[in-house]
Amino acid sequence: MKCVCGALAEYKKDLKFNGFKVDGWICRKCKELYYHPEQIQKILLLNKLRKQKLLTKLGQIRSNLIVRVPREVGEALSLRKGERVEIKIEGGGMRIAKHQRSSPLPKR
Ligand SMILES: [Zn+2]
Repeated sequence: MKCVCGALAEYKKDLKFNGFKVDGWICRKCKELYYHPEQIQKILLLNKLRKQKLLTKLGQIRSNLIVRVPREVGEALSLRKGERVEIKIEGGGMRIAKHQRSSPLPKR
């Protein structure tokens, strides 16, 4: 990638943005930072969703209850159909989290 100063910017992993790890480019000459736009978009969406109260309705298939995850939440957390998530009972409620194997932001 070319920097605005004209020099070459190098691809770099694990840059910091709002406490998240993001890939991006750093200019060799002027040290200007360019974050990966798709990853930044996800972080901004996550921050927006964090401030909201998300309501969802339970469905049911046979004896199991189904939690519908709003599309934006699925996108922000990179969740896909068929993917495993973890349910943890906390106090009188539950917490559903992506099954942790690697880093929270997938590399593309
Ligand atoms: Zn530069």
